[in-house]
Amino acid sequence: MISLQTKDLSKEFPGVIALDKVNLSVEKGEIHAIVGENGAGKSTLVKIISGVYHQTKGEYFIEGEKKQFHSPKDASEFIGVVHQERELVPHFTGYQNLFLGLELTKGGFLLKKEMKRKTKKFIQKYNLDVDLDLPASDLSSGQQEMLTILKVLFRDPKIIIFDEPTAPLSIKESEILFRLIRDLKKKGLTIIYISHHLSEILDLSDSITVLRNGQKVDTIKNDDVTERQLINLMISKDMQNQYPKVKTEINEVIFEVKDYTPKKIGFKNINFNIRSGEIVGFAGLVGSGRTELAKSIFSGNKLDSGSIELYKKNFKSRNSKKSIDSGLVMIPEDRRGEGLLVNMTVKENIIMPHLSSLTKGGFTSENKIKDYVKNIIEKFSIKVFSPLQEVRTLSGGNQQKVSVGKWLGENANIWIFDEPTQGIDVDAKTEIYSIMGNIAKEGAGVWFISSDLKELVAISDRIYVMHEFEIVSEFKPPFYKEAILSKMMGEI
Ligand code: ADP
Ligand code: MG
Repeated sequence: MISLQTKDLSKEFPGVIALDKVNLSVEKGEIHAIVGENGAGKSTLVKIISGVYHQTKGEYFIEGEKKQFHSPKDASEFIGVVHQERELVPHFTGYQNLFLGLELTKGGFLLKKEMKRKTKKFIQKYNLDVDLDLPASDLSSGQQEMLTILKVLFRDPKIIIFDEPTAPLSIKESEILFRLIRDLKKKGLTIIYISHHLSEILDLSDSITVLRNGQKVDTIKNDDVTERQLINLMISKDMQNQYPKVKTEINEVIFEVKDYTPKKIGFKNINFNIRSGEIVGFAGLVGSGRTELAKSIFSGNKLDSGSIELYKKNFKSRNSKKSIDSGLVMIPEDRRGEGLLVNMTVKENIIMPHLSSLTKGGFTSENKIKDYVKNIIEKFSIKVFSPLQEVRTLSGGNQQKVSVGKWLGENANIWIFDEPTQGIDVDAKTEIYSIMGNIAKEGAGVWFISSDLKELVAISDRIYVMHEFEIVSEFKPPFYKEAILSKMMGEI
């Protein structure tokens, strides 16, 4: 049986179409997830079917019957919503919150005993641990969430909707919530679940609806979809073309930095890792220490304490040359200053790091070099009329490709790209993203420093945020720019 159905449901706010002809169908007794980027229309959809907003157009049905709710109270025996924002009265006890608007009275008096008796039975049914005699403000955030849910369940709805429920919860509290949700499903309730966390969604849901720009992209069975596919559905085709994401297999940790404390530089909490096949973004404001960290590790600064491991082996480097020999390369931010010798030719720049391997017994095989250079130029589609062209005469994008290409023959394991797309045109940027993707695809790890949050979230598999020389947080997809930005600004 279909529990909830919407037909061409639309909502316009002045200047925004928040919801655009959405046709949704939710089976009775299933856990149906709704995903989409910020602003995709998820909360608007929920608010319409629960009577907070009126739709501009379209209609909705519950168990086949057309409904039109005029307030959340009006909807509450059909649809209960656990909103992003809590709706408890802080100084009211659990009981008072639970009965808010449903108080049992006789001749103007509250029937307290009767209310408690009713509640007890109800709580036992759900096997939840909340002290209802305490004011809501005295409860932990997990217990407040439980109380909010109890309040919704107490109205005995057919459908319960969770809008970003785990945001304020600890991992343990989230697990309790998931257990409860599965239990509700067993009891026959229909559950609509909205979350940023795709791993949660894939864990919990039976089917998944993807919204994008107010429109429904698709509804998919959970078994048929991966996290990466979901992300691709969530972001627009334009974005996908501009920020191509090469499909890679992300495997074991190959680079692990623990409590990195070099002499003389005041880093804090530098703990991070990079996996094989992974592009790891580093976000932060200019001056937050991202470049300094990369340079410090690359140039082999002496440590006061902490450790660096590459393939589980202690990574000991004394200088950048040693780092390159051990499999760590860096394409620096200032490619004209550090990355390239712009007055030399493309060929000279490309072979520079490989002279020893291309030279045998002191003699250089000219043919071997020619082939090598030709191969790199083709592989990176570097636009030159001749390998003998001076680098300074190339466009910024092509210069950048030379500075990446020169490291290719090194079979590096970790590639540091520091602001690789700064100052180059859109097409060249797209090519650089593909190059990074292909490097990851071959099993290396990419350490990607960028101040362009848009490209960072589009290309990275994971993002660390630095603030004042400290790694302050780690994000997994789907990424929310606002959340990352607030960490970049140092908000806790
Ligand atoms: P989501 O929950 O998926 O993040 P929302 O449903 O909150 O998305 O928002 C969808 C779009 O509608 C956004 O562009 C948002 O700015 C807009 N919107 C949401 N609520 C309002 C409102 N009350 N007034 C004006 N615009 C709104
Ligand atoms: Mg929302």
